[in-house]
Amino acid sequence: MSRCKACGACCRRGGPALHREDLALLEAGILPPAALVTLRAGELARDDVRGVLAPLSGEAITLAGSGGLWSCLYLDALSNRCAIYAERPAQCRAQCCEDTSALAAMYDRGRLTRAEALPQLHPDWSALAGAHEDECAWARLAPLALRAPYDAEAGRLLLEAVRFDQAFRELAVERAAVPDAALLLIFGRPLRVLLADFGLAFADGGGRLVRSGLLLYPDIL
Ligand code: SF4
Ligand code: SF4
Repeated sequence: MSRCKACGACCRRGGPALHREDLALLEAGILPPAALVTLRAGELARDDVRGVLAPLSGEAITLAGSGGLWSCLYLDALSNRCAIYAERPAQCRAQCCEDTSALAAMYDRGRLTRAEALPQLHPDWSALAGAHEDECAWARLAPLALRAPYDAEAGRLLLEAVRFDQAFRELAVERAAVPDAALLLIFGRPLRVLLADFGLAFADGGGRLVRSGLLLYPDIL
């Protein structure tokens, strides 16, 4: 039997990845689009079972953080109570720090994908996500980001992708009436933000890439 002390430590490390059995929570509006963020395949993310940062082998839809932090938006920071405890996602139900076997058994299996979730929320969103992924997949962009500091052509292609990503989001809002609050679910986090994982940032108003910090992403070249 779980002896969770309700300390909230696991919730502060970040919201759970959703699984197929959580789809009903989206359909019922218990988890609205504004509460969800997609981490795309190849993106650097914390593995809660192994306790390491690693590129995702497939995408994950997660609960958003709160106040710019990883802490799950449904956690009350003062009381450590979960605002949706009775209807919390499957991964939260499996979480037990005394015995991680249940979490390990389900952790990266049966994860909910955008292809399954988005059609239940809006008829256009899955096609928009697919068109964005065609240009912005990490399988293509991660090698470019790793080479960009010493390869001008890789840097140029990466900048092009970052600008495409930004423009695509703006067009989706203006022309397809996508709510701002759904952008992180449909397209994931902006490429511009994720450059930091490669120790890169924009300079000169977005016209140039520069080294800005440590390379966190593993060298896959
Ligand atoms: S599962 Fe563990 S870390 Fe999470 S709230 Fe319970 S006691 Fe704290
Ligand atoms: S949904 Fe609730 S139990 Fe799950 S991480 Fe968020 S606050 Fe914690």
